[in-house]
Amino acid sequence: MAMRRITRRWLFNSFGVILLILIAFEVVFSFGIRSYYYSSVRQTMNARADYVESLLKKYSQDASADYRSEVRGAVENFSDKNRMELMALDSKGGVVITSSGFEMTEALYMPDFDEAMELGTGYYQGTINGENVMAVTRLSQIPDDEFFAIRFVVSLTEVDQQIVALIILITLIGVAIIFFVVMSSSYFINSIVVPLGEVGQTAGKIARGNFDVRLEKKNDDEIGDLCDVINHMAGELSATEKLKNDFISSVSHELRTPLTAIKGWAETLSACGPGDGETLEKGMGVIIKETERLSSMVEELLDFSRMQSGRLQLTMDKLDLLAELGDAVLMFTERARRESVDILYEEPEDFIPVIGDKNRLRQVFINILDNALKYSHVQGTITVKALRREDRAVITIADTGDGIRPEDLPQIKTKFYKGNTTRRGSGIGLAVAEEICTMHGGKLDIDSVYGEGTTVTIEIPVATKKLEETMLKKNLPEGAPAGKEEQIHE
Ligand code: ADP
Repeated sequence: MAMRRITRRWLFNSFGVILLILIAFEVVFSFGIRSYYYSSVRQTMNARADYVESLLKKYSQDASADYRSEVRGAVENFSDKNRMELMALDSKGGVVITSSGFEMTEALYMPDFDEAMELGTGYYQGTINGENVMAVTRLSQIPDDEFFAIRFVVSLTEVDQQIVALIILITLIGVAIIFFVVMSSSYFINSIVVPLGEVGQTAGKIARGNFDVRLEKKNDDEIGDLCDVINHMAGELSATEKLKNDFISSVSHELRTPLTAIKGWAETLSACGPGDGETLEKGMGVIIKETERLSSMVEELLDFSRMQSGRLQLTMDKLDLLAELGDAVLMFTERARRESVDILYEEPEDFIPVIGDKNRLRQVFINILDNALKYSHVQGTITVKALRREDRAVITIADTGDGIRPEDLPQIKTKFYKGNTTRRGSGIGLAVAEEICTMHGGKLDIDSVYGEGTTVTIEIPVATKKLEETMLKKNLPEGAPAGKEEQIHE
């Protein structure tokens, strides 16, 4: 399809124009060559006529000579006999004598003679007796009835043959040009159409779900760029596909554990009846804990989905970063005590002002602290430090827990990646935390020694006047469309 359309367009646009130019050139050339040849024949005849005329003038002035016999001699011995015919005409246009020696009895059709009668000199080019000829007539200098005028006639048959030969030659050259144009153009068109066909086929395969196919980039041109883009697209699609699969497997796995616990305890509780207060309390505790876990997971997933679609909205405010960190640490003190893990919090005296979203920043700290605790052992220590380094607030949360395998470390911040599959977790906590840090103009780094512990470093820019202006602008006015849209999607 593509080929036919491109070829047709080429036919109309370039080939058509070239053809028209060639035809126009051919026509102009044909007329030009004809008029050039004819005018040079005419020039020759005029030169001859001038010469003969001057000869006759000489005879007429020579009193000793017999004018008529001199003229007769000049006509009969005309030096250009082979090329043209010279004739002497009487005052009625009758042929008195010709250089070819033929006697002419009948009257000839001579428009040039008629013209010469009026103007003294006449010219005619056209068909006489079925032959294309050119004729020039000059009136004689002396009004003599017998030799009234001289006339030169030349046949144009040979000249016409030469002209036709030239036209044929030029036509052949034109055809050869067209042939080369067609050959080189079809090579060029094929060099576009063939790779385009391949691109189309590969794109079709990708569309049908085969994300492993790749195009080979043959040339560094627009088609090459297209190949790159399509390969990139295939890569992105396959990454999305992988993300989707990871998502389904991770989420369904993570949902199953709390659901099993809830179902189990609900069954136990309904079997044991209201009398068993201890079991009831324990069961309810588990059910509440697992439901909380489920809803926090759903929250996490919603955040993740907002993050994916770029709808994660921050409500920026000027706040004290240490207050949020302190709150988060406080939230974990009880849990840490239960799990026999020490939390050491080294807090600077001064507060650190930042422009940020209170809840989101706290969520980052909670995620990191939750991980630190989750992967810590009994008697472990979690050290939380906060300090101000130039225009950045730097917070480190270090644990003495499992640590992360070096091979897992580069992927740990990607979505749904779980280094340790024995622990519960959806694998998106770090991805969300990093995204939030980035949105604050900061960053999140993880260092870890496997078996020794993990250190997470968070950097957030300290509030300045300029930062305040740009960051606060990001807040949308209340009831803005984006907020509504978010509700609909959820
Ligand atoms: P999850 O909900 O599974 O914890 P995260 O995105 O928070 O998801 O973490 C991803 C992975 O990073 C975890 O599965 C774990 O293997 C590793 N990880 C994160 N924090 C720590 C830590 N403090 N110590 C050891 N491993 C960690």
